[in-house]
Amino acid sequence: MTKPVAALFRDDFYLSTAEAVVTAVHEDGGIELDQTCFYATSGGQPGDTGFLERADGSRIVLGPTAHGPTKDIIIHRPLESGLLPSVGEKLVLHVDWPRRYRLMRMHTACHLLSVVCPFPITGAAVGEEESRVDFDMSETIDRDEVTARLMQLVDENHPVYVQWITDEELAANPGIVKSKNVRPPMGLGRVSLVCIGENSAIDSQPCGGTHVSETQEVGAIHISKIEKKGKENRRFRIKFGSPDPAP
Ligand SMILES: [Zn+2]
Repeated sequence: MTKPVAALFRDDFYLSTAEAVVTAVHEDGGIELDQTCFYATSGGQPGDTGFLERADGSRIVLGPTAHGPTKDIIIHRPLESGLLPSVGEKLVLHVDWPRRYRLMRMHTACHLLSVVCPFPITGAAVGEEESRVDFDMSETIDRDEVTARLMQLVDENHPVYVQWITDEELAANPGIVKSKNVRPPMGLGRVSLVCIGENSAIDSQPCGGTHVSETQEVGAIHISKIEKKGKENRRFRIKFGSPDPAP
């Protein structure tokens, strides 16, 4: 049994490169490392892409990083076969930072949306260009008003930070979980709470994703669409930039 991978992204969301040693190479090309700054797909946030740099300078380009059968396993997946490192080989990891940073800005934007729309979340997907959050709600809500309130939270530049609590503390406080269907990242003995505002004044939410460190970094965003998905479900789409001017 090898040691579980050290998931460096959990303690430093801004770490884009690191050194690592190959601990396993699977038959299908999946690569395991002793430590990694590559975020693995979970909680609605896509896994990181980028490349592994070998001692001779050559690159192994990676598709989205994913978990193995358990959260202790992180699989780095080369886009091309035939360029596999060997176990014990030292590599330098390079996350595609512009892409990851957009995903971080978007993920924090999704949390801000859950502040503006305080309804149970039934689904979410963070994307580079567009994100969506589904709410269990029947109310009609004005798109431009939601955008204005989101941008107010962005402009107020609240700090965003992580607090760790134990699985038991979370189990004792079920009220802090906003997702109905998405289970909080439990099972590691501790759960990360993503907090927004001094003393979590704006929000705190169990989440294993990566976030910017203050809300101004989210930048200009807007609600591009609110769709009715059934009687009690509303799908909100968030995009970067200012809304298109009214026709
Ligand atoms: Zn989240």
